[in-house]
Amino acid sequence: MTNPTVRVVETAVADLEGGVAGIATASGMGAVNLVLQALLRSGDHIVAQRRLYGGAGTALRGLRERFGVDVEYADDADSLIEALRPGRTKVLYLETISNPTGYVADLPRLAAAARAAGVLTVVDSTFATPVLCRPIAHGADVVLHSVTKYLAGHHDVVGGILVFADPALHEKVWHHNVEFGVAADPFAAWLTARSLHTLALRVERHCANAAVVAERLVAHPAVTAVHYPGLTTHPAHEVARRLLTGGFGGTFAFDLAGGRDAGTVFSKRLRLARLAPSLGGTVTTVMHPASTSHRNLDEGQLAAVGIGAGTIRVSVGIEHVEDLWADVEQALA
Ligand SMILES: *Cc1c(COP(=O)(O)O)cnc(C)c1O
Repeated sequence: MTNPTVRVVETAVADLEGGVAGIATASGMGAVNLVLQALLRSGDHIVAQRRLYGGAGTALRGLRERFGVDVEYADDADSLIEALRPGRTKVLYLETISNPTGYVADLPRLAAAARAAGVLTVVDSTFATPVLCRPIAHGADVVLHSVTKYLAGHHDVVGGILVFADPALHEKVWHHNVEFGVAADPFAAWLTARSLHTLALRVERHCANAAVVAERLVAHPAVTAVHYPGLTTHPAHEVARRLLTGGFGGTFAFDLAGGRDAGTVFSKRLRLARLAPSLGGTVTTVMHPASTSHRNLDEGQLAAVGIGAGTIRVSVGIEHVEDLWADVEQALA
């Protein structure tokens, strides 16, 4: 059911998040599915923000199609709050910083509205890490992470974790964890415990590098838009400034003027940064959805899911920022 090394990570991350207890899982998706399956049953209603990690969207679609859970999406704080139905809604599902366009959820306002309606707030805080934001202090009931990303941070772990504000809720979900068998692997937990020693340092450098790269991309003629919440032009900048402490995250998206072809060439020409679908590690990784994960979609279909043909997602690593920028600049050229 568990292991002492796994327990070390659960306790450490629960402390970092200001929660009472944690449950480490085999992957981030293990954490997403564990909490959703534990808190929802057929006929229940869940409200989720539309800008959501793709895997969470797939999990919610499965709950709707196979188990008759009523899933409702909304775009902004006002419509999320309006969608809550006291008595029927069980969960409000949010992301602190959304992937990849950096929408930042107004957690204090949303969690307070959910609490008033008797709804549990679950926050995927993978992009923020407890270094930048601690959702429980803003009223969240459950915080989850893909440990695979920043918490482990070295491209060598697959894991997830849930942290709870309330011991009774922890116990309820814990029973499902045992039942589903999504427990974390002890060796992955050992690597994660090692990584937590440098979490604050890594996140500080990820954020500092990302801020420099984002600002230089804004000024580059090959780039038409930069979706980084640290920029004053970003629609979520005000909320981000209020909620995030010490930086605006290390992962964001930008759009290339040259569209799909430019995206393909850019991602192939990078030499220091790697073309890879994951994020949050020490090495900079980029993704070009239009030629990889979303290559079967035409321009119209891409636009419908909020991705441009020339959109690049970059997870800025902890390299020397001038090495990194030299690489980005030669690939842009
Ligand atoms: C990657 C990711 C997940 C899923 O995590 P895995 O460890 O890859 O299963 C969930 N949420 C967010 C925001 C992610 O980036």
